[in-house]
Amino acid sequence: MKQKPEQGNPSSRDLIRGVMDACTNCDICRFMMDESCLFFPELYRLFDKEKEAGTNVTDEELKRLASLCTLCGLCPCPNIRADILLSKAARVREQGIRAGERLLADVQNACRLGGRFPWLINTFLSINPVEKITKRMGGISQKRALPRLPKENFFSWAQKNGLTRKPAGQPKAAYFAGCTAGFLFPEVARAAVAVLKQNHIAVYVPPQQCCGMPTLLEGMAALTRQRVQDNLRTLLDAADTGFDLVCTCPTCGFFMKKLLREGAHYSQAFQKSVSAGADEIRVPGKIGKEGYVSLKKSIYGDLLADNPNFSAIDPMARIALSEKLSDMGQYLERLHLKGLLDTNLGRINNRMVYFTPCHQREQNIGSPYENLLFMIPGLDLIHVGGDMDCCGMGGSLGFKEGFHGDSVRLGQPLAKKIKAASPYAIVTDCLSCRLQFRHLLPELPVYHPLELLASAYKNEKTIIRP
Ligand code: SF4
Ligand code: SF4
Repeated sequence: MKQKPEQGNPSSRDLIRGVMDACTNCDICRFMMDESCLFFPELYRLFDKEKEAGTNVTDEELKRLASLCTLCGLCPCPNIRADILLSKAARVREQGIRAGERLLADVQNACRLGGRFPWLINTFLSINPVEKITKRMGGISQKRALPRLPKENFFSWAQKNGLTRKPAGQPKAAYFAGCTAGFLFPEVARAAVAVLKQNHIAVYVPPQQCCGMPTLLEGMAALTRQRVQDNLRTLLDAADTGFDLVCTCPTCGFFMKKLLREGAHYSQAFQKSVSAGADEIRVPGKIGKEGYVSLKKSIYGDLLADNPNFSAIDPMARIALSEKLSDMGQYLERLHLKGLLDTNLGRINNRMVYFTPCHQREQNIGSPYENLLFMIPGLDLIHVGGDMDCCGMGGSLGFKEGFHGDSVRLGQPLAKKIKAASPYAIVTDCLSCRLQFRHLLPELPVYHPLELLASAYKNEKTIIRP
């Protein structure tokens, strides 16, 4: 249902207009982000057109502009990204959301529903006219192949295998699989379990909701907050009872480790916990008292505020989750540095390229999977793609009608680099990149690094078939 903007609640138009004004005053991203982002080139195009033609940018143009941000995290200003998200949320409050957009964003519920009858759904979708109508209804590009549902999703498998009960003893890890591995690529989540078990780590799959990224990107702010609250409760409960927290999806990791904590240190609760003075804001840093940088509240107070997209959620819990959760590559690399990782890896005699997805890069954890994969004898692993290279998928954006062309254009430079390396397969930890690579380079199999590690532990010699 549509709602009028509440008083003191800026409209979606004002919010995105504010972003436009700030970024055209600054202009840094006009040149810096012209190839790896769809949002900034469009922002500057609209601004230039407005100046030249003397006509105002329309509401529709501003709506489309906001929808082009996929929250990849590559641009420099978190407050600008936060305002884009606020604008999307305000748009949903004002205009509601189309059923197709809701379906694409709510992967969890769509897959839970379809996952009850995967065979039936897959059979239906293999009938050409049915697939066409489904895509049309969902606002999905006809050029995209819809992913098929596996016979059994990871969460059902985990329950059958006793992983949803907390194991005793140590070491033990609580595994957050995320929706894509959980519902669409359960082989990746099962590989994660196999690798942990190989290293004598007991696995627990706690109750979990979608991390919140896809719904946040569609402006579904209330549903996002509700899911975040649920995940905070179950994951922090697991951490409190001795579990290490791990995840295998770079987007879930980026969301829970980085995005969710943005601004949480400026909250009253955190300032109180570090005994900040009356005119002081303490920010974690290497200099200053007790590892904090001290700033004057009277000068910076208005600038340093909690992220409005998450400020209604306990900031201390957000900080705790971001500190306790590890990307699984990072977790395994730490085990290795302590001499605890099983390095008895069988050969894989293939040449492959590894691509670091943007949400992994943005976690600033180096390239742990590459360091691990280099230990597999026979594997000829080549790094592909620079800091600004992007597959172009942008979560579910690449699926949408009207964005397919942009998505493919954005991913083409990377696809060319991959082809030039003549690999047998592509390795990347992002399953959204996997969908895009399958679309752009259908001749190449795509694997998660954990599938290679699990295969090497089993000594399969040549990698699993696609
Ligand atoms: S995102 Fe930040 S650096 Fe980039 S143009 Fe906008 S204000 Fe400038
Ligand atoms: S977060 Fe990524 S997609 Fe969004 S504006 Fe920044 S660079 Fe562009």
